[in-house]
Amino acid sequence: MERGKLEPIEVICAKCRYTKIVYLPIEDLPLCPKCNTRMSISELLDEGKSY
Ligand SMILES: [Zn+2]
Repeated sequence: MERGKLEPIEVICAKCRYTKIVYLPIEDLPLCPKCNTRMSISELLDEGKSY
């Protein structure tokens, strides 16, 4: 693993509630595999981050 900063976020489909974890930085939010809708960010999963 590189030391690059991957931030996991949960994205959710507003239509069917399908959720998925993606890692930042990401160019575009993914499309829902079920209904092909642009997914939106559900929550930031940045536990364990220390500044
Ligand atoms: Zn969907």
